[in-house]
Amino acid sequence: MIYLDNAATTKPCDAAVQGILKGLEVFGNPSSLHRCGVDAELLVSDARHAVAESLGCLEEEIYFTSGATESSNTAIFGAFKSQGKRRHRVVTTTVEHPATARPIDELERLGCEVVRISPDENGVISAESIIDAVNEDTFLVSMMLVNNETGAILPVGKAFAAIHRRFPKVITHCDCVQGYMKLPVRVKTLSADLISLSAHKIHGPKGTGALYVRKGLHLPALVMGGGQEKDLRSGTESVPLICGFGAAVKSLAGDLNDRLERARHLESYLAEKCAENGGATLNYTGEKSPYVNSISVAGLKSEVLLHYLEKKDIYVSSGSACSKGKKSGVLAEFRIPVQNMDTTLRISFSAETTEADIDALFDGIKSAQAELAHLR
Ligand code: PLP
Repeated sequence: MIYLDNAATTKPCDAAVQGILKGLEVFGNPSSLHRCGVDAELLVSDARHAVAESLGCLEEEIYFTSGATESSNTAIFGAFKSQGKRRHRVVTTTVEHPATARPIDELERLGCEVVRISPDENGVISAESIIDAVNEDTFLVSMMLVNNETGAILPVGKAFAAIHRRFPKVITHCDCVQGYMKLPVRVKTLSADLISLSAHKIHGPKGTGALYVRKGLHLPALVMGGGQEKDLRSGTESVPLICGFGAAVKSLAGDLNDRLERARHLESYLAEKCAENGGATLNYTGEKSPYVNSISVAGLKSEVLLHYLEKKDIYVSSGSACSKGKKSGVLAEFRIPVQNMDTTLRISFSAETTEADIDALFDGIKSAQAELAHLR
């Protein structure tokens, strides 16, 4: 199996699987006062420590959630509930994941003024374009670190630091899902008040993630109930999934720079293979994460090629141009040429991806080009 769809999800690592099993064995409810509960609570604390250490923040600033979608919803609706009555402007970008874009659309329906900043003619969102959109009426700025369709890196740290200097009351939120444990992501350098993380993009289990909330910022709860997670996210903690998340973080923590170097090498190798093929082109070559790559193969519709490759046990994404039939529009925002739009594939790497995987992908593409020529 050649798996090149790691931006969609990653294979859980052995440590995560062991972590999940441990969390199932230690079955107590972390809220129980007896030893079974305390043992489970200790496991949750250990995972919280690992996530906090990886971001360079305090343990008390990490809240476990069911994943980044819930984290971003909590961040956005929480900011609205706490600040949105007095100030009404939200600044965001046109390239956000739906987990951010849709809650912000909802704020617009509730009466907020939403300013969405687009990339310029080169497909770049400058820090200045974000900063200039913020005014006295703004209560929230939400911007992702790494775009999930192109890998583009957005200037989050620069924009948020300047916004905090000029407008200290503005709440800044960053969806770090595609950057976390891949790029050196630290709370200090991002200057974010709120950060969304997902476990399943870093070889952890699906259905868990975290929200970083800067100490001192009070965020109202989205999910209310028994008061778990310091009342920000009620519901009995998913101890097995949280343990799996913590174990995945620990197993990746040591060699981020080595993995990043390898991913950069693979990114260059992919570019070479595109050039060698002739029919394949890279869609985004601005400042980007090497882990996420958008390519187009002339004349072969994304979904046709995706299913052709699938028969050869090679798994890629159709580029998110179409998510279950719905066009996202994000590729157009990044100024990807119209003629490349329907032929886009997203090739995304993990720590385990090798040059041989990319060779196999291009062997597959080459045979598709020969066999499916009649469809062009
Ligand atoms: N944000 C980005 C950039 C993503 O790529 C994803 C997942 O596709 C999410 C948010 C949602 O994460 P989760 O699946 O943990 O809810």
